Amino acid sequence: MPKEINTKLSNDQKKVMFEEATEPPGSSKLNSEKREGFYHCANCDTKLFESNLKYESGSGWPSFFEALPAVFETKTDYLLGYARTEYHCKNCGAHHGHIFDDGPRPTGKRYCNNGICLIFKSK
Ligand SMILES: [Zn+2]
Repeated sequence: MPKEINTKLSNDQKKVMFEEATEPPGSSKLNSEKREGFYHCANCDTKLFESNLKYESGSGWPSFFEALPAVFETKTDYLLGYARTEYHCKNCGAHHGHIFDDGPRPTGKRYCNNGICLIFKSK
Protein backbone atom coordinates (compact mmCIF):
# COMPACT_ATOMS: atom_id res chain seq x y z
CA MET A 1 0.00 0.00 0.00
CA PRO A 2 1.55 3.33 -0.99
CA LYS A 3 1.67 5.67 1.96
CA GLU A 4 1.42 9.41 1.78
CA ILE A 5 4.08 10.85 4.05
CA ASN A 6 3.50 14.38 5.27
CA THR A 7 6.60 16.41 4.38
CA LYS A 8 6.33 18.34 7.66
CA LEU A 9 7.11 15.24 9.74
CA SER A 10 10.44 15.14 11.59
CA ASN A 11 12.84 12.25 11.02
CA ASP A 12 11.89 10.82 14.42
CA GLN A 13 8.20 10.95 13.51
CA LYS A 14 8.88 9.21 10.19
CA LYS A 15 10.86 6.46 11.92
CA VAL A 16 8.01 5.70 14.30
CA MET A 17 5.13 6.15 11.88
CA PHE A 18 6.57 4.41 8.83
CA GLU A 19 9.32 2.13 10.17
CA GLU A 20 7.47 1.07 13.33
CA ALA A 21 10.14 2.41 15.68
CA THR A 22 9.12 3.21 19.27
CA GLU A 23 9.81 6.48 21.02
CA PRO A 24 11.66 6.32 24.37
CA PRO A 25 9.22 5.91 27.30
CA GLY A 26 8.50 9.11 29.17
CA SER A 27 9.67 11.26 26.27
CA SER A 28 6.29 12.63 25.20
CA LYS A 29 4.85 15.71 26.80
CA LEU A 30 1.42 14.28 25.96
CA ASN A 31 1.88 11.85 28.87
CA SER A 32 0.82 14.62 31.20
CA GLU A 33 -1.74 16.23 28.88
CA LYS A 34 -5.04 16.52 30.79
CA ARG A 35 -6.99 19.14 28.85
CA GLU A 36 -10.19 18.35 26.97
CA GLY A 37 -9.77 17.92 23.26
CA PHE A 38 -8.88 15.53 20.48
CA TYR A 39 -5.73 13.68 19.51
CA HIS A 40 -5.11 13.76 15.77
CA CYS A 41 -2.85 11.70 13.52
CA ALA A 42 0.37 13.71 13.06
CA ASN A 43 0.62 12.52 9.47
CA CYS A 44 -2.90 13.05 8.10
CA ASP A 45 -4.75 15.01 10.84
CA THR A 46 -7.53 12.42 11.29
CA LYS A 47 -9.10 12.54 14.77
CA LEU A 48 -8.09 9.33 16.56
CA PHE A 49 -8.82 9.76 20.27
CA GLU A 50 -10.86 12.05 22.47
CA SER A 51 -9.40 13.22 25.78
CA ASN A 52 -12.04 11.32 27.79
CA LEU A 53 -10.60 8.03 26.45
CA LYS A 54 -7.11 8.74 27.88
CA TYR A 55 -5.90 7.39 31.21
CA GLU A 56 -2.70 7.23 33.21
CA SER A 57 -1.20 3.79 32.63
CA GLY A 58 2.22 4.50 34.13
CA SER A 59 3.83 2.93 31.04
CA GLY A 60 5.59 6.09 29.89
CA TRP A 61 3.46 6.37 26.74
CA PRO A 62 0.16 8.15 26.23
CA SER A 63 -2.50 5.50 26.87
CA PHE A 64 -6.15 5.21 25.91
CA PHE A 65 -8.72 2.56 26.74
CA GLU A 66 -10.61 3.11 23.51
CA ALA A 67 -10.18 4.83 20.13
CA LEU A 68 -12.76 6.74 18.13
CA PRO A 69 -14.83 4.39 15.91
CA ALA A 70 -13.21 2.86 12.82
CA VAL A 71 -10.07 4.99 12.76
CA PHE A 72 -7.50 2.19 13.08
CA GLU A 73 -6.61 -1.07 11.41
CA THR A 74 -4.58 -3.72 13.22
CA LYS A 75 -2.11 -6.44 12.36
CA THR A 76 -0.05 -8.91 14.34
CA ASP A 77 3.68 -8.25 14.49
CA TYR A 78 6.57 -10.28 15.94
CA LEU A 79 9.18 -7.50 16.14
CA LEU A 80 10.03 -8.43 19.74
CA GLY A 81 9.84 -12.18 19.11
CA TYR A 82 6.26 -12.62 20.30
CA ALA A 83 2.87 -11.69 18.92
CA ARG A 84 1.67 -8.15 19.49
CA THR A 85 -1.29 -6.31 18.03
CA GLU A 86 0.02 -3.35 16.07
CA TYR A 87 -2.39 -0.59 15.05
CA HIS A 88 -2.15 2.02 12.37
CA CYS A 89 -4.18 4.91 11.04
CA LYS A 90 -6.80 3.58 8.62
CA ASN A 91 -6.62 6.75 6.56
CA CYS A 92 -2.88 7.09 5.96
CA GLY A 93 -1.34 3.82 7.18
CA ALA A 94 0.93 5.47 9.77
CA HIS A 95 1.91 3.21 12.68
CA HIS A 96 0.80 4.51 16.09
CA GLY A 97 1.38 1.82 18.68
CA HIS A 98 0.20 -1.49 20.10
CA ILE A 99 -2.96 -2.68 21.84
CA PHE A 100 -2.62 -4.64 25.08
CA ASP A 101 -5.26 -6.40 27.18
CA ASP A 102 -4.37 -4.83 30.52
CA GLY A 103 -6.43 -1.64 30.27
CA PRO A 104 -9.13 -0.40 32.61
CA ARG A 105 -12.86 -0.95 32.36
CA PRO A 106 -15.04 -0.88 30.41
CA THR A 107 -12.90 -2.11 27.49
CA GLY A 108 -9.95 -3.76 29.24
CA LYS A 109 -7.82 -2.47 26.37
CA ARG A 110 -4.73 -0.29 26.44
CA TYR A 111 -3.88 1.60 23.29
CA CYS A 112 -0.21 2.32 23.92
CA ASN A 113 0.40 5.21 21.54
CA ASN A 114 3.66 6.90 20.62
CA GLY A 115 3.12 10.54 21.58
CA ILE A 116 5.21 11.67 18.63
CA CYS A 117 2.49 10.36 16.28
CA LEU A 118 -0.21 12.50 17.84
CA ILE A 119 -1.14 16.16 17.69
CA PHE A 120 -3.33 17.35 20.55
CA LYS A 121 -5.88 20.06 19.87
CA SER A 122 -7.71 21.41 22.90
CA LYS A 123 -11.42 22.17 22.71
ZN1 LIG B 1 -3.18 9.17 9.64
